Amino acid sequence: MRQVKLGLWGADVSEVCFGSLAISPLQGRVTETEGISVLRYALERGVSWIDTAEIYDNYEQIAAAIKGHPEIQIVSKSYSVSAEEMRLSLERARTALNRDTLDFFLLHEQESAFTLKGHSRAWEELQRAKEKGIVRWIGISTHAVAGVRAGALLPGLDVIHPILNYQGLGIIDGTLSEMLEAISFASDLGIGIYAMKVFGGGHLTHDPEKAVAFIRSISGVQGMALGMSSREEVDYNLLLMAGKKVPRELQEKVKHRKRKLYIADWCQGCGLCLEACQQGALSIEKIAVVNAETCVLCGYCGRVCPHFCLKIV
Ligand code: SF4
Ligand code: SF4
Repeated sequence: MRQVKLGLWGADVSEVCFGSLAISPLQGRVTETEGISVLRYALERGVSWIDTAEIYDNYEQIAAAIKGHPEIQIVSKSYSVSAEEMRLSLERARTALNRDTLDFFLLHEQESAFTLKGHSRAWEELQRAKEKGIVRWIGISTHAVAGVRAGALLPGLDVIHPILNYQGLGIIDGTLSEMLEAISFASDLGIGIYAMKVFGGGHLTHDPEKAVAFIRSISGVQGMALGMSSREEVDYNLLLMAGKKVPRELQEKVKHRKRKLYIADWCQGCGLCLEACQQGALSIEKIAVVNAETCVLCGYCGRVCPHFCLKIV
């Protein structure tokens, strides 16, 4: 497993961060115990850090998996707005993860300078927590070009976790090239960057080598969070990252798992995705619905949804 340094002054971690949303109750793909087992398996194979969030509701699961392994680093995030909310978020994480010092804590899904302004009190609290040694590294996660640009200028920020994949899927306010420019801007300031949605939320799993090679080709990005919910997915991803041939049997198990278009229940029924579907597979019945018979799982609809409701799962 390649080791990387996040930015000029950041943490030393493995190139792959374990994306724990995939084992969390939020996605409900595996039981808590199965998730612990998958996570332990990945850690035994060299993954040295874990991405989570307050809303994933899986701190206890992670605490069980990392018991006796203080060297494993954890990133968490919250939507805190006020200083008090951030204090509570940090305390919740420290207690549930059984850690006096948190490795990373981020403001979750920041869209722009405007949203960051709205969270300024929480950010100031995060900075104070860093000064006191409660948290080592602080930052933001974002689906937006403007989020990366504004985050890069936040005082004390160490790390940004932006959405990034070779089709630009899920970027809510711009193009892929604009996102790359924003990442380059942040990286020139020495900020550490690890990518999310490398496989476009499941839309790009037909060519995983290309998806990983794209992230590795961007000089300002040091690592990537990969969601994994089975041992087979761990093996598959780690072989992929090592540039090794994935045995056909494993390919079949992971790549050819039956997939479908998942439409999140926070869909606004705006209809933008209908225009992007050449198959005519989408319609609106209060929210978007898909005709699985005609859907070819091309993923084009996911690119246009402003609320990131569409995922191939
Ligand atoms: S674009 Fe997104 S929010 Fe709009 S109808 Fe489609 S799935 Fe729903
Ligand atoms: S995945 Fe492709 S075919 Fe399926 S609904 Fe979306 S755009 Fe249409």
